[in-house]
Amino acid sequence: MENRRNFLKKSALGTLGVSTVMSCDTLNKTSSEAVFPRIISTWNHGLDANKKAWEVLKNGQGGLSAVEEGVKVTEADPNVRSVGLGGYPDREGIVTLDACIMDKNSNCGSVSYLQNIKHPISVARHVMEDTPHVMLSGSGALDFAISKGFKQENLLTEASKNDWIKWKEKSDYKPKINIENHDTISMLLIDENRDLYGACTTSGAAWKMHGRVGDSPIIGAGLFLDNEVGAAAATGLGEAIIKTSGSAMVVELMRQGHSPLEACKTIVDRISKIHMNSPEWEYLQVGFIALNKNGEYAGYSLRKGFNFSLQDEINKDLLIDAKFQI
Ligand code: ASP
Repeated sequence: MENRRNFLKKSALGTLGVSTVMSCDTLNKTSSEAVFPRIISTWNHGLDANKKAWEVLKNGQGGLSAVEEGVKVTEADPNVRSVGLGGYPDREGIVTLDACIMDKNSNCGSVSYLQNIKHPISVARHVMEDTPHVMLSGSGALDFAISKGFKQENLLTEASKNDWIKWKEKSDYKPKINIENHDTISMLLIDENRDLYGACTTSGAAWKMHGRVGDSPIIGAGLFLDNEVGAAAATGLGEAIIKTSGSAMVVELMRQGHSPLEACKTIVDRISKIHMNSPEWEYLQVGFIALNKNGEYAGYSLRKGFNFSLQDEINKDLLIDAKFQI
């Protein structure tokens, strides 16, 4: 029989429905309810990714496979123009991918500047499990992927190629704010044992310099977790996130007792202070998601427009508008 606490919890959240959009403010109170497992991912493409991760988790394949298989959905989607297949290329017209993965024991694996492999997240997992290293890059990462049976393929779709050709007419490098081309998928998961897992994968900032690596494959910048405390992940202008070790700092603030929302906000405020008078300020966007050991979660961004996806037993398919600074 349902106890009163569960009944109230369902009353508060159970009517949200499919793909409901909520503001993070509204949910911040209810999110303090301990619900396990729980998955959050950046952006609306996180909805499909979460669904897959949930399925994998429910099949008993574990949190690590769940986050890997979840973000693989986004990597394989040619319509997501900033992750994996179909991702925007650099200014030379070459698609280069960054990804990392981390587990409850602080094991982690990462690849950067990887080309022609559709699922960098799976290569990152192999780096974690099959090598003494954390990070492989460029041709070394590609050779390693091939040795693990990954097939090379062209990731530049006609649509992305055409956009690149159009961009070259002006060659103006101003990574646009929000979904136009800042939409790395980062996924954080807490399982029924309250163990944490995370994954992050991207084709990086569109029209970046060839060889540029962003925050996403850097443990502590694009993704960080400490199983005693919580997990955090980032999206947005990678350079700004690296300069503050963004995700690691969000986790450290949660360790000091800050809520996920306060922790994300503090780091976004720090980033905004650093960049306020810089040329990139006009197009700067950064956003963080965070999930603590109690299953509380939040998302927060510098500018309006960032959202994140939530999946748990109560909320199937929920898209939440993150709070923002300006
Ligand atoms: N953080 C990514 C990068 O700078 C971009 C993104 O989030 O879309 O590479």
